[in-house]
Amino acid sequence: MDMTDLRIVEPPGGFPVTKKKGRIDWKNHVFHYSQLASYTKCPWMFKLKYIYGLDEEMKGIGAARGSAIHDSIYKIKQEDLWSSAIDVAIKAYDDEIDDESYNDSKEEKSFEKESKKGRDMCIEVVRNYAIREEKNKNRVMFSEIPFSVLIKGNKFAGKIDEIRDGEDGIELVDFKSDLAVPSLICLMNSLQFMIYGIAMNDGMFFLGEKEFKINSVPSKVVWYHLRHLTAYKRKSYNNGVTFNVGDMKGGGNPEVIVPWDEFEIDRSAEEVRKIIGAIKGNHFYKRPASVGACNGFCYHNETCVSGVTSCDYNVEELLTK
Ligand code: SF4
Repeated sequence: MDMTDLRIVEPPGGFPVTKKKGRIDWKNHVFHYSQLASYTKCPWMFKLKYIYGLDEEMKGIGAARGSAIHDSIYKIKQEDLWSSAIDVAIKAYDDEIDDESYNDSKEEKSFEKESKKGRDMCIEVVRNYAIREEKNKNRVMFSEIPFSVLIKGNKFAGKIDEIRDGEDGIELVDFKSDLAVPSLICLMNSLQFMIYGIAMNDGMFFLGEKEFKINSVPSKVVWYHLRHLTAYKRKSYNNGVTFNVGDMKGGGNPEVIVPWDEFEIDRSAEEVRKIIGAIKGNHFYKRPASVGACNGFCYHNETCVSGVTSCDYNVEELLTK
């Protein structure tokens, strides 16, 4: 497959694993960073998701809110809608939310309450984003730009949230809706940033009919923490500091800078090679509950965690599907 074949066709979460003559076709598989991240959380989860194709959980309000915020930010930048940020956020949220995801009136009530909270937060984040970033709009070079790259002979595709022109060079920005900011050491070992960093240096980018290379490592990698664009709703204490109602979280600064330089490229490629080697080598062990992956948030928890070495899924049956 030519890398240009991957132009804007990447499905969310990456390409499914395909089979050729009953065997998994790793040679032509196109990896996505989320697949590797899933493998590092639990190799067995990777197998259930990407090889057996078992569905993920239904999209909850948190995920719908995150998508709506991402979509709004993209639309505001693409269509220069900075002064209509609130309207953009409301429409994006209402388009995302699934009004039918409850079974009875009790669930409906709680869904409506949570949904309103999600909507309010989406509006607050998008409004504050527009206020903060309109003055920087000319620095944005690309938004949601698709790429493909070969890493140690393995094909990868993905989309970078934002590439912008910074004081010291080109910056890589990723918008995050997570509850908390990971530790710096965790961010420096983020597979997503590793793969995106390699793509900026070696990969092919696609813009409409055009394809081009950037040929530069990011001078700065930014974890853009969207929750820092919201204010405290009640008096809070955090790390010995008191915050009053209306104080912005994280001091109102959403940019968490991840140290980065050209030396990261080799380290990242080696890390990726090791993980893919384990996947291709068929190492799909279950992550022991004691390690923390089976913490109740895994969708497969009930059927899977009950046995340490066995699994309730009929593996043979799944393989023949
Ligand atoms: S329940 Fe635990 S072992 Fe099973 S797939 Fe999820 S994380 Fe892995």
